[in-house]
Amino acid sequence: MQLTDTYGRTIKSLRISITNRCNLKCIYCHREGEIRHTNNEMSIDTIANIVKASRKFGVNKVKFSGGEPLMRNDFERIIKALPELKDISATTNGTSLAQRAHDLARSGLNRINISLPSLTPEKYRKVTGGDVNIVFDGIDAAVASGLIPVKLNMVLMKGLNADEIPAMMDFIKKYDGKVILQLIELMNFQQTARYQVNIDEVEKFLEKRADGIEERSMHRRRKYHIDGIEVELVRPIDNSHFCANCNRLRVTSDGKLKPCLLRNDNLVDVNNKEPVEIEELMKLAMEKREPFYKDAML
Ligand code: SAM
Repeated sequence: MQLTDTYGRTIKSLRISITNRCNLKCIYCHREGEIRHTNNEMSIDTIANIVKASRKFGVNKVKFSGGEPLMRNDFERIIKALPELKDISATTNGTSLAQRAHDLARSGLNRINISLPSLTPEKYRKVTGGDVNIVFDGIDAAVASGLIPVKLNMVLMKGLNADEIPAMMDFIKKYDGKVILQLIELMNFQQTARYQVNIDEVEKFLEKRADGIEERSMHRRRKYHIDGIEVELVRPIDNSHFCANCNRLRVTSDGKLKPCLLRNDNLVDVNNKEPVEIEELMKLAMEKREPFYKDAML
């Protein structure tokens, strides 16, 4: 039995936000589409029950996000409470990884994405309010702990960091393929339209240098092989293909199934529910699930 919506899209992965709290202040942050901030964080049991329910429908990939997931001191225990899965990953700002990467890997985390909008201390501070050197230590710790491939998430901003793409490509070379660069088109959640990059130009820049190009069906992401490194390009905006192959169901930090990043009028509450109830509510969420950008599906 699978979870398939009325547009024929089958859920293969969960993206679970486990907190709204964060120790950085990224100027572009979309907060996983959560507009209401709540301190009502899901318990370990609720998180495990949601994953157990989704296993019944063949879902075997989970990604944790936030806020900053490592703000939760029980993150290692959350991972340990999960049923057997093919892939458990997280996206983090990397500021606590130097201390926790080893324990996270031992708890069962398979791999990690680390936000790195700039390599330059001043620019990094301007964009996030934090210290980039701490993140460099976190990247090293993640690689040493085997949380690989480590993906470095760079949200592109004109006039701020877009000129750093070549430097980023150089930076990951030293990790011998264990670190991948993920370039992400900025989504305008925080009145950041002035930073919007022409993503077609970025695509051309990568195409020119690529020895090989692959395309994943999920969100139609392109992966470029360039001089022994891998660079992925994520184009979420006005991209009907982004939605057409979306196989992800989101969960908010206060325990609501969220069928789409860009909508908040179709949430389904599963907080403090048992797996059997959650299974039924997942079917309900499927009825409410529709692509935000529909053109390619009509
Ligand atoms: N604090 C964690 C982190 O930094 O990865 C998890 C939360 S963050 C919202 C999750 C991911 O969303 C990060 O990879 C970040 O780069 C991406 N992101 C945040 N705001 C974005 C935006 N406006 N457009 C595109 N991607 C964004």
